[in-house]
Amino acid sequence: MNERSVYLDHAATTPTDPRVLEAMLPYFTGEYGNPSSLYRHAAGARQALDDARRTVAEVLGARPTEVIFSGCGTESDNLAIRGVAMARRHEGNHIITTPIEHAAVLHTCEQLESAYGYRVTYLPVDATGMVDPDDVGRAITSGTVLVSIMYANNEVGTIEPIAEISRITRARGVPLHTDAVQAAGSLDLDVERLGVDLLSISGHKFYAPKGVGALYVRRGTPLLPAQTGGGQERGLRAGTENVPYIVGMARALEIASAEREAEAIRLGALRDRLLAGLLATIPDAQVTGHPTQRLPNSASLAFTGLEGEALLLRLDMEGVQASTGSACAAQEEGPSHVLTALGLDQVAARGSLRLTLGRATNDDDIDHVLRVLPPIVETLRAMSPLYAS
Ligand code: PLP
Repeated sequence: MNERSVYLDHAATTPTDPRVLEAMLPYFTGEYGNPSSLYRHAAGARQALDDARRTVAEVLGARPTEVIFSGCGTESDNLAIRGVAMARRHEGNHIITTPIEHAAVLHTCEQLESAYGYRVTYLPVDATGMVDPDDVGRAITSGTVLVSIMYANNEVGTIEPIAEISRITRARGVPLHTDAVQAAGSLDLDVERLGVDLLSISGHKFYAPKGVGALYVRRGTPLLPAQTGGGQERGLRAGTENVPYIVGMARALEIASAEREAEAIRLGALRDRLLAGLLATIPDAQVTGHPTQRLPNSASLAFTGLEGEALLLRLDMEGVQASTGSACAAQEEGPSHVLTALGLDQVAARGSLRLTLGRATNDDDIDHVLRVLPPIVETLRAMSPLYAS
């Protein structure tokens, strides 16, 4: 067993940055007031909530009133999709999305289909996971109430052409939602440049704690609240705001925004060295996702002839934490819906591996993976009936 720990699963979650934790701490004990309370004792919490909203709005290029705090990325996606679909139910019942979305989007669409009679179009993606903007235009009908397309894919890192897609949805007067949960922290989130009407983020993907998210809702976008109650968040997400976590998420977004460009260059170089090294030493390996239009920290591959779970266990014994889109690890019946939608050969998809780099990743970590992974693949293939060399 290797005592070394090389965490390469930043797409799953990230550690809380100490600077973020420091910003949060005063709001647990000293400034613990309810931001809706009117007395002076709650003024600190109220101010912190206002400041956090302003900070998030600034990074998004939005107005503070357009930022709704939520409990996670899943909740933001649910609120966006169900909220717009329900609010516009008298105008139509058609939703457009893609087959490579996160379950938070897919299962919400499926429920709208099965329980409420909506019709959902799943646009095709090419072998790199890219949506063709023209397909969006072709799929829109007079009954289309929402288009939801992710900004960057969580399994293969492909970045979708959101700005091009929004030119089409805008011209046709259809609201566009993007799940930016994986993009936040790595890509430009300016909602004007992207042209989106709704955008979901989740704190724990960019060094804030788990359990806090936000949804940007462009002014004038019809949205039926999923949660009714005390009228917080302009009535769109009732419930006393989680002030310390919201403060933490705003600080985390501020840091990510300031460090984003330099970090993208650093991580992109490490990622490219990792991929090139693996491709050079492991036969029958392929990179999944787009070769260039991909998140800078994302390396995803498929090694035909072995099982992803076995790969993960062996890597874990060498101190490397990673993930796979194969079968049970993805909690799906077969290979992940993303790899299937990309048209990946089923045997190759079973041997998929996702390595996602982060702030603490360095050259030594990459060297370690380049050292331990090729012999693991060779050993597993030697034992596998799936692999014929
Ligand atoms: N959307 C995408 C693309 C994700 O990768 C994730 C989490 O992995 C989510 C939504 C859900 O976010 P959360 O874990 O905050 O609910």
